[in-house]
Amino acid sequence: MANHSPISSSQILTILTYLLCVSGELMPWPTAIPSHIQSLDIASRLHNDVDSMKRASNDYGNLVHEAPSAILYPSSIADIIDLVKFSNNCSTPFGVSVRGHGHSVRGQAMARGGVVVDMSSLPTRNVRVSRHPTLGFHYADVGGEQLWVDVLRATASEHGLAPVSWTDYLYLTVGGTLSNGGISGQAFLHGPQISNVVEMDVVTGKGDLITCSHHMNSELFFAVLGGLGQFGIIVRARIILDKAPTRAKWVRMIYSDFSKFTRDEEHLISINGANYVEGSLLTDKSPPNNWRSSSFYSSYHQSKIATLLKNNQGLLYSIELVKYYDHLTAHTIDQEIEMMVENLSFVDGFIFMKDVPMMDFLARVGNLEAEKEAQAHPWLNLFVPKSRLLDFHSGVLINIIGRHNQTTGPILFYPFHRKKWDDRMSAVTPDEDIFYTLGLLHTCGAHERGYFEAQNNEIIKFCEEAGIEIKQYLPHYKSRRDWMKHFGGKWESFEERKMEFDPRMILSRGQNIFDSVTYSDI
Ligand code: FAD
Repeated sequence: MANHSPISSSQILTILTYLLCVSGELMPWPTAIPSHIQSLDIASRLHNDVDSMKRASNDYGNLVHEAPSAILYPSSIADIIDLVKFSNNCSTPFGVSVRGHGHSVRGQAMARGGVVVDMSSLPTRNVRVSRHPTLGFHYADVGGEQLWVDVLRATASEHGLAPVSWTDYLYLTVGGTLSNGGISGQAFLHGPQISNVVEMDVVTGKGDLITCSHHMNSELFFAVLGGLGQFGIIVRARIILDKAPTRAKWVRMIYSDFSKFTRDEEHLISINGANYVEGSLLTDKSPPNNWRSSSFYSSYHQSKIATLLKNNQGLLYSIELVKYYDHLTAHTIDQEIEMMVENLSFVDGFIFMKDVPMMDFLARVGNLEAEKEAQAHPWLNLFVPKSRLLDFHSGVLINIIGRHNQTTGPILFYPFHRKKWDDRMSAVTPDEDIFYTLGLLHTCGAHERGYFEAQNNEIIKFCEEAGIEIKQYLPHYKSRRDWMKHFGGKWESFEERKMEFDPRMILSRGQNIFDSVTYSDI
């Protein structure tokens, strides 16, 4: 943790004055409140120095900036419980948002006027690996604040085991991705990360520390997974592990035809064999080598693809396929890959292959921390029902993204099986057996964000008008009506669960779901 100076007593008074004024609780000033907060152990861990405030008021998106009154650097779970309970005991409670690694793009981990809990200050915990006594599978108990990259290092290097479902980027926290879903090219096979958790410890919005699982306090368990931080703070998660493969055959194939591209994607996620399948669009602004894996293609291959791109109206499609192997399967892996790709319809000669250590594949996106400050990331992530793929292709991929041709950054497009998602969880998907994700991962200068926001809005409007029932992943809405529409049939239980686990609506107000505050874009 950086060196932050603790808040003095007078600053604590100021913060509380602000919180209580905002909440209308302070009448008259001063009241018994100051001595109350000072009696709490957490007082010395609340900060409002410039660096802390700046960090907590921004995120990877650099689109929304909301200042809290203070940042809590917890030294234990008990500190978090104390803070949540304290807020609960105010007649009008203040918001508490936990910040995992701040890689949201729209202020979801912010707490205007409230307190941001910076999870990174929790003392480093060891990843504990165990074997289930009756079912026999291995699992890891990890802190909600831990980065997936650290989970991988600990499980793979010390135990030869690894989680089975990943995100493309590993510098995200366990609590942060489990609050959303956690998707990547393994999700077609194992489900998203939320489908690979068997137990959690959660601090609810009432300040209760509860252990939950499929069978124990299951309502809380399912609420929290994909629950956008609304029901509780994940302080421990038990993640399913499997034997960590040692190497990966990493294949990319280029397509000029959308129907062949999606047909082959769906074929690959339906046969036995692939461990990872993702797809993407290639344009001159979204080239084959990008930050998702900056050195896959040699410069010779890049120019070969660039020529094909030119001859194909500036739009190509790419499937990325991976098969893991180890010393036991090393002698058959090439043959297996050959069989998997032999009937696929990629452009003749446009198949590229790498053979890499497993760790290099999983950690293919480096740490993007340094890039964060200067640029904005007006991302749009959607789930698209398979039945409307052709309409989506012509209306969105060709007529909006292709016509603008300004999307700078990866454009992901790949399918999932809905059966791998558990409908009891809060996460929402289209109501079809197969759906796709579109990830428009724009990077732009702060002054250009309006342009990309307009494009994103045009896409959403087109889908609405065409009756394409998309769902946003990492959703962002400003009105209750839109949230209700997003959750559809799950809205009622989402609301009921909120009443049960966070009745005073303290947690994750940066998501702007329940509180009346409108989080303005700046
Ligand atoms: P934060 O941004 O800090 O928090 C996100 C939300 O979760 C907030 O509402 C916060 O209050 C809440 N939260 C955080 N920790 C907890 C906790 N312990 N308990 C309860 N609530 C909590 N997502 C994918 O699925 N797949 C990808 O491949 C992928 N790649 C990405 C690559 C990059 C470069 C970036 C910036 C994001 C990517 N994401 C991806 C999105 C990412 O999963 C989400 O933005 C995630 O929320 C970020 O995690 P974080 O730890 O930074 O969470």
